[in-house]
Amino acid sequence: MPKTLIEPFRIKSVEPIRMTTRSERERLLAAANLNVFKLHAEDVLIDWLTDSGTGAMSSKQWAAIMEGDESYAGARSFYRLEAVLKELTGMRYFVPTHQGRAAEKVLFTAACKKGDIVPNNCHFDTTRANLEVLGVEALDMVIAEGTQPATIHPFKGNIDLGRVQMLLETKGDHVPFGMITVTNNTGGGQPVSMANIRAYAALLKRYHKPFIMDVCRFAENAMFIKLREPEFAQTSIRDIVKEMFSYADGATMSAKKDGMVNIGGFIVLRSDEWMDAVRNTLILTEGFPTYGGMAGRDLEAMAVGLEEALQEDYLRYRLRTAEYLGERLESAGIGFVKPTGGHAVYIDAKTVLPNMPVAHYPAWALCNALYLEGGIRGVEIGSVMFGKRLADGTETFHNMELVRLAFPRRMYTQSHFDYAAEVIAEVKEKANEIRGVRIVKQAPYLRHFSCDCEWV
Ligand SMILES: *Cc1c(COP(=O)(O)O)cnc(C)c1O
Repeated sequence: MPKTLIEPFRIKSVEPIRMTTRSERERLLAAANLNVFKLHAEDVLIDWLTDSGTGAMSSKQWAAIMEGDESYAGARSFYRLEAVLKELTGMRYFVPTHQGRAAEKVLFTAACKKGDIVPNNCHFDTTRANLEVLGVEALDMVIAEGTQPATIHPFKGNIDLGRVQMLLETKGDHVPFGMITVTNNTGGGQPVSMANIRAYAALLKRYHKPFIMDVCRFAENAMFIKLREPEFAQTSIRDIVKEMFSYADGATMSAKKDGMVNIGGFIVLRSDEWMDAVRNTLILTEGFPTYGGMAGRDLEAMAVGLEEALQEDYLRYRLRTAEYLGERLESAGIGFVKPTGGHAVYIDAKTVLPNMPVAHYPAWALCNALYLEGGIRGVEIGSVMFGKRLADGTETFHNMELVRLAFPRRMYTQSHFDYAAEVIAEVKEKANEIRGVRIVKQAPYLRHFSCDCEWV
């Protein structure tokens, strides 16, 4: 067998990339006030800002788009997607939402009240925000290895069951349900093992608590289980996914991830306990329960996408892509979160810019350098995103300075990754020429999206 793992698809429709020169990019970045979020996407060569809703749909999905039934109530497209989800999740109740955060908002409004506490491996930022806005405490209880970038562990997304048990023992009355996020996005796209899911489910059952999963990357997680959990080496992805869902009482999903679509989400539930409240909030904020904020055609594309996400050749190529870039970075002496997760590589900017003070935002500086050097757009996960300027003008800093390169699904080929590896290595060679930044204008919340910067 040849060792080269090929992209398991051919290209039927292409979208040209606009080439830019370095001097053009210098001008464009300056016009964007040194904030890559403010660049026009057309001015980016390789856009690795996010894997959310940015992937390529298949010819089958585009064909399904034409089958969309846009009826307000009871559309055929709803029932088609419902059938796929029933088969996959074994759950009886399903409502579509326009994306993942809407699913969270609708479910949490139905199932939580002020003063509640919800444990998770790591809550994604929208999950946390949707809980906190209801006065619910969102607790991250990932295992210790999950917070150590350089520690190798096959399932760094696992939840620390000792801590969950302690919570259930001491404050169980305030816990409406337990959550787990597969894969653990906030923790670097790291997987959760089936053993951990089983044990967590059993623990919650002993305390009579429902188990809710955030399943945005359920298929990538299943592939990691197949590759790393010996019991599942011969099990099909579909059966791994079905077993995983068999332990859950409900799930929220952003279909912009493993739903393989550009927009969409859903809630599935095993019992109808929360369904009246779910339908009521859904009608108030999303739409009638058979479309929930989505067009019929988008429901069709999701029904096809959910099946395509289970294809093993695709998943093998998907996980290998991140691993491959990791290997290239390793040989260039660049640090990153290990092992690589499913959807992204997180570069440790401090290994590229060891001498830059955090006050000059090294991860932000590296993001800018990747754009200037090669037109690559990543996202800073460091002190611009998580630090704060306090009332007295002093700054707080994040404990890590990471640049996340997140890969849209089925979009970039190996030569794009080879190019990126070259650009990153080049940037490291020229590290002493890279300048840090100062923030000159910022919003009180989520400042990274809109802040203006200047060179130090
Ligand atoms: C993207 C994401 C969400 C939110 O989904 P949106 O579609 O962006 O609203 C929730 N949880 C996880 C783990 C995610 O990755």
